Amino acid sequence: MPKGKSDQRRAAAGPAAVDAKELAELRRRLLAFYRASRRDLPWRRTADPYAVWVSEIMLQQTQVKTVLPRYPVFLARFPTIAALAAASTLEVCEAWAGLGYYRRAQNLHRAAEVVVREHRGELPRALAALRTLPGIGRYTAGAIASIAFGEAAPVVDGNVVRLFSRLWMIDAAQDGDAGIWRLAEALAQGEAPGDLNQALMEMGAIVCTAALPACPRCPVRRHCRAYAASAVERFPTAKKARVASRLKVAFAWLSCRRGVWLEQRPLGGLWAGLWELPSASGPGAKTRLEGQLRVVLGRPIAKVEHQLTHRDVTAVVYVPARAPAALLTPPPVPVPGPGRAGAKIAAPRSRSRLWPDPLAAPLSALARKAIVATQAKLRP
Ligand code: SF4
Repeated sequence: MPKGKSDQRRAAAGPAAVDAKELAELRRRLLAFYRASRRDLPWRRTADPYAVWVSEIMLQQTQVKTVLPRYPVFLARFPTIAALAAASTLEVCEAWAGLGYYRRAQNLHRAAEVVVREHRGELPRALAALRTLPGIGRYTAGAIASIAFGEAAPVVDGNVVRLFSRLWMIDAAQDGDAGIWRLAEALAQGEAPGDLNQALMEMGAIVCTAALPACPRCPVRRHCRAYAASAVERFPTAKKARVASRLKVAFAWLSCRRGVWLEQRPLGGLWAGLWELPSASGPGAKTRLEGQLRVVLGRPIAKVEHQLTHRDVTAVVYVPARAPAALLTPPPVPVPGPGRAGAKIAAPRSRSRLWPDPLAAPLSALARKAIVATQAKLRP
């Protein structure tokens, strides 16, 4: 890697030294790269704002290969914003199966209702109006505004943070991402801001990757300060270690020939409206769960771990000591979900029912893990 004195001086200068000429050259190279090397993805073959919106929501925290088969199916089922708004939340969540993070589906549905009610069924162009819709944050608003409407709006996600951290040796863990947003905004002020933003995403996805950046074939290598300083591996800088509390959850596996009992979580809070096994959480969770269900629980059959932003959850799934006749009726009392350790009983769940295939339900991430682990143990 080159380490000349002038390169070192440029590297030390930081993002404040980025001038309009450098930005214009970067923009030119990025657009040329995107037009020559972009992957042919179905959401890149359309300028329909609704289709762009759906793709952006699906791609949040989900890999392209997971989204690819589900995107056309979802759009075939809900071809317009009006069709999406007219569906029930459950129907939308069912069509979302396999993508996880069902809160996104719920927000998409709520936002469609708002668009029909307040914007005559047309997704608004303006960044500020987009950001008022449920589930549309700064990144998604910028992506829709630039890709679907050609607005000069910036996007910054993990890929862009990594790319810019390396290009300008930015310590985003220490300094935050405000400087990165400013650079992205400056870069978007030119021709084809939608293509430019997709070029940034594509760069982060296939060239300036987290594990193995492909510097030798990088189209913006001559602008890269980390490369010039032989410091690529130092960027992006590591975030401070997260401090998490621990939470124990007890799940009950109540099954019969007709399926497995699941309950719907309350409509507010964590995993709102999603389904899971009957549960209790916090100290003495198993005992309280037995009391709530009026079932003696026997051996643990599966154990799973799940990380939330500030909490590490350990969930244990128990089967009843004897198959109770009460399985054919709903559990007799409302059951709390995983809330704060020692929390009081949560609001009653709106529904509880047998699911012939529990994995077909719109599940919380924790419940999905627990059901998959339990089914693996029960398999003969
Ligand atoms: S030269 Fe390497 S580190 Fe720099 S932007 Fe390109 S791929 Fe990323």
